[in-house]
Amino acid sequence: MVEVSKVAENIYMIDDQLYSIPKYGSVYLINEEKKVLIDSGPTTSANSVLNGIKAVGVRPEDIDYIIVTHIHLDHAGGVGVLLRDMPQAQVVVHYKGAKHLVNPAKLISSMIADQGEEVMIRYGEVVPIESGRVQAIYDGDTIKLSDRQVLKFIDAPGHASHELCIYESRNNGIFAGDAAGVFIPEDEILLPSPNRDPEVCVNTLRRLMELNATTVYFSHFGTSNKVQQILQLAIDKLQVWNEIVDKAIKDNMFESASERMVAQTCAELEPVRKMKPLYAHMINHLVPLSASFHIKYYQRKA
Ligand SMILES: [Zn+2]
Repeated sequence: MVEVSKVAENIYMIDDQLYSIPKYGSVYLINEEKKVLIDSGPTTSANSVLNGIKAVGVRPEDIDYIIVTHIHLDHAGGVGVLLRDMPQAQVVVHYKGAKHLVNPAKLISSMIADQGEEVMIRYGEVVPIESGRVQAIYDGDTIKLSDRQVLKFIDAPGHASHELCIYESRNNGIFAGDAAGVFIPEDEILLPSPNRDPEVCVNTLRRLMELNATTVYFSHFGTSNKVQQILQLAIDKLQVWNEIVDKAIKDNMFESASERMVAQTCAELEPVRKMKPLYAHMINHLVPLSASFHIKYYQRKA
């Protein structure tokens, strides 16, 4: 069964059943004269994505671009496999990520270093992409999809140095990738992503606020129309963690800081308990990973 919903004019959200968890991974299809997929999901999600595209009434062979918000394998790992069904598609990626799609060895080893060997079972095979099909993108670049729809790319470092947010003019929306955190639309809960550089992350969030967009499309998961409020919330969440870490630096107690960050965030997740697989993933994996990234950043700095 495939879950697809129309989220804006000519924009559809496909639940890619990331890691077999419902409501955790969103792949978006923009159905203009030129057809675009925003993120591919990992290879293990490829069938869900292909079925989602077909459910909208679009043929995979008519996709013009796969744009990846960043190259992490839950967003871009499935591109190589999807391209087999999308002979016309060009892959659009942040210039810092382009070479890693052509030769994914380093990308794979860094994902394993962060999350352990077994993580590759969740992502599946990573098929290298021919360099001729990869288009490197810089801040401010645009792609016109129709007279009414132009995409503009925004360099969005913080979660990753190779992250792009994509502004779409037709609905005044932003595809946020992982730059604004992990959202649970049912309960309007927002959690920090595992961020490489939480300070740069805040700058990116401020830059996104300047766009005055009216919709934000999360990669994890769903959409919201309370854009400014959510972006401010994302900043506030990082600052709450900063305060905990700040105190820990003074007392030299990083261990207990991590426990406090995890405990506080897990308490907020109580309403999500009903969504069992999602809740389990967040408690056991996402929240501890995000907290440890946050602390590591400040440890390196200190
Ligand atoms: Zn992600």
